Amino acid sequence: MLKDRVAIITGSSQGIGAGIARYFTKLGASVVVNYPFDSEADKANEVVKEIIANGGKAIALKANVASEEEVKQMVEDTVKEFGKLDILVNNAGITRDSSVKKMSVENFKMVIDTNLVGSFITSKVAAEVMAAQGYGRIINTSSIAGQEGNFGQANYAASKAGVLGLTKTLAREYARKGVTVNAVSPGFIRTPMTDAIPEDIRTNMINEIPVKRVGEPEDIAAAAAFLGSEQAGFITGQLLPINGGLNM
Ligand code: NDP
Repeated sequence: MLKDRVAIITGSSQGIGAGIARYFTKLGASVVVNYPFDSEADKANEVVKEIIANGGKAIALKANVASEEEVKQMVEDTVKEFGKLDILVNNAGITRDSSVKKMSVENFKMVIDTNLVGSFITSKVAAEVMAAQGYGRIINTSSIAGQEGNFGQANYAASKAGVLGLTKTLAREYARKGVTVNAVSPGFIRTPMTDAIPEDIRTNMINEIPVKRVGEPEDIAAAAAFLGSEQAGFITGQLLPINGGLNM
């Protein structure tokens, strides 16, 4: 499905991003496993090692998605290594949870900066490369919190709702250039981000999910692979919720 495609997956040294990187390489894509800081290089290199051991193609590249300079360098290095860039998955994301009353302006801005400004920067840089090629796929990551809001997540929910507006606007601006732009909206997925949730709250959350299980990174990866495929070329500007029916 993704044979000979080249993909950058932001924030892919663990969790959903690593799941997408592994899944894409199994479908024939070459991937860039992106990580933000030097201190995280080992985790990214482990993912790359595992992919290569399984017969896939991957390299690790450092770039903080909130830095335009670093993102430009990552995209340049990707094209240098693999010759082109077909797919960008904007997966990198952070949380800094607390009630609005206790949330500092600094923590509000930090989350917006990584989740929303970061997606803007990577899309802006990648979309121009894709437009010049006449082909590209951008998949952004929103969240059920962006659709519904979530107690303690004003910053995160705002960033993820913003991702939807960004997705639809990018889709309109780049459609005629062969670049589609869509967003996935995960519900409750098993990753280091959600492992931090206490057991009793986790059990209550699962009870509320109609399919009665948490999602796995592969649930998101399968959807991203479809949206990233040539076959999805007539789909753009859409939000695909992947949440076991939690939000309908
Ligand atoms: P994790 O925290 O497990 O992984 C997030 C990844 O993003 C990490 O690899 C992290 O790198 C990386 N990252 C953080 N900041 C930056 C940055 N500035 N530049 C580049 N990379 C960065 O999260 P998940 O896998 O759970 O989530 C992945 C995406 O899915 C996020 O956008 C999240 O908001 C979204 N999502 C997740 C849900 C869930 O239930 N898990 C639900 C809804 C949405 P490092 O660890 O090295 O700092």
